[in-house]
Amino acid sequence: MTKRILIVGGGYVGLYTALKLQRKLRGPLKRGEYKITVVEPESYMTYQPFLPEAAAGNLEPRHVVVPLRKVLKRCEVITGRVTGIEQAAKTATVQVTATEFREISYEVLVVAVGSISRTLPIPGLAEHGVGFKTVEEAILLRNQVLGHLDRAAATLDPEERRRSLTFVVVGGGFAGVEALAEMEDMTKDALKLYPELTDKPRWVMVEATEKILPEVGPELGVYTVERLRERGIEVYLNTRLESAEKCHIVLSNGESFDAATLVWTAGVKPHPLLQKTDLPLDDKGRLKATAELTVEGHPLVFAAGDNAAVPDLTKPGEFTAPNAQHAVRQASTLAGNVHAALHGKGLKPYKHAYAGSVASLGLHKGVAQIYGVKLRGLPAWLMHRTYHLSRVPTFNRKVRVALDWTLALFFRRDLVALGALQHPYEEFELATGQRKAS
Ligand SMILES: Cc1cc2nc3c(=O)[nH]c(=O)nc-3n(C[C@H](O)[C@H](O)[C@H](O)COP(=O)(O)OP(=O)(O)OC[C@H]3O[C@@H](n4cnc5c(N)ncnc54)[C@H](O)[C@@H]3O)c2cc1C
Repeated sequence: MTKRILIVGGGYVGLYTALKLQRKLRGPLKRGEYKITVVEPESYMTYQPFLPEAAAGNLEPRHVVVPLRKVLKRCEVITGRVTGIEQAAKTATVQVTATEFREISYEVLVVAVGSISRTLPIPGLAEHGVGFKTVEEAILLRNQVLGHLDRAAATLDPEERRRSLTFVVVGGGFAGVEALAEMEDMTKDALKLYPELTDKPRWVMVEATEKILPEVGPELGVYTVERLRERGIEVYLNTRLESAEKCHIVLSNGESFDAATLVWTAGVKPHPLLQKTDLPLDDKGRLKATAELTVEGHPLVFAAGDNAAVPDLTKPGEFTAPNAQHAVRQASTLAGNVHAALHGKGLKPYKHAYAGSVASLGLHKGVAQIYGVKLRGLPAWLMHRTYHLSRVPTFNRKVRVALDWTLALFFRRDLVALGALQHPYEEFELATGQRKAS
């Protein structure tokens, strides 16, 4: 009988695990001894480090995602959402439509659902905030920012203009700093098309701790704050968002103002699906993983990436940080260990010393710290692009991304707001006089 390897989640860990396993198990898959099933709500994997560039129009959003069916030709891909896992019965429940649920049984399980934005019960945040983890959010944000420039240029009301031109990003990690820096760069470019706009856009970064970009170390974190402030961006450290009701921003440092755009990137937490399993979790809600990337007490259940507490063998007592560098490398070890477990061989522990980080601060600007070497400005930005180009999965995506960047050398970025994408039925509803049934 065919044994199923079920991979829950088609992000970094899920995709890279499936890619390696379909290569390693080529023969057994052909003979029908095994089947690899990947369940993912989207039909693609998102290369998240490119989201800021997609939001800023330097990259075409479709080029920062990898279509799963195209690259996982020897796997079964189910577009759906796992809603529960019962390891005791070795079954997972998958929601494939609003009303249809499928039970899928498995022999080997890989849990790779990553994390979700960590939010706080701040008044107005749920109504007015947007996260920055998906390509849909990146597209929305780009349309929103450019749409607000159009609105600010059109309105005669100075208060509305100020509100439209005020953009707030909460959270000074990778996602927040890169998103803010790239989009501020984009608005500077865009303003050349709005000669009637004499008010300058106001960009505000709010960070609850005393530093931003902890991934590149304190020195480069301070450098980043200085560069952002030089660009006129307000950076508030040791400051929290207290309220955002009716788009009125109140900060813990006493500042308050209206802002039409609020981006929330203040950290992540393990995916809530993990609570709907009978697998062991740690106090932060992550799967308790061993160094071999199995889940404690379950030799044929594997976990890695943002949803797992993986012991960091290079720093005893600590766990590996939730980032792409670990996720990709863990996926490789994990796939090797699944293969070894199926063939009765010993499993290898995951051990990787963090190599450092690169971050873009807009066109031709960046910071990087690789193996202790610190880079700033253009060299860091080039390092950022080279590193991520080498990392984005598949040759096809590498070529498309490289072409986008090459085209940008000759043509200015596209600065059109396709805000109507959020309301695609509006035109036809106007024609028919009826609201579309959803
Ligand atoms: C904007 C941004 C920029 C970043 N930049 C960097 C960077 O420069 N360097 C770096 O090292 N890290 C970076 N990161 C972090 C990095 O992207 C994550 O650490 C990495 O994606 C974790 O991989 P993962 O496989 O654990 O989770 P993910 O890649 O998030 O994959 C999880 C997958 O599970 C799917 N899923 C969710 N729920 C279900 C369900 N119920 N059933 C089935 N599937 C489900 C999701 O759709 C997703 O595809 C960045 C993150 C963001 C958001």
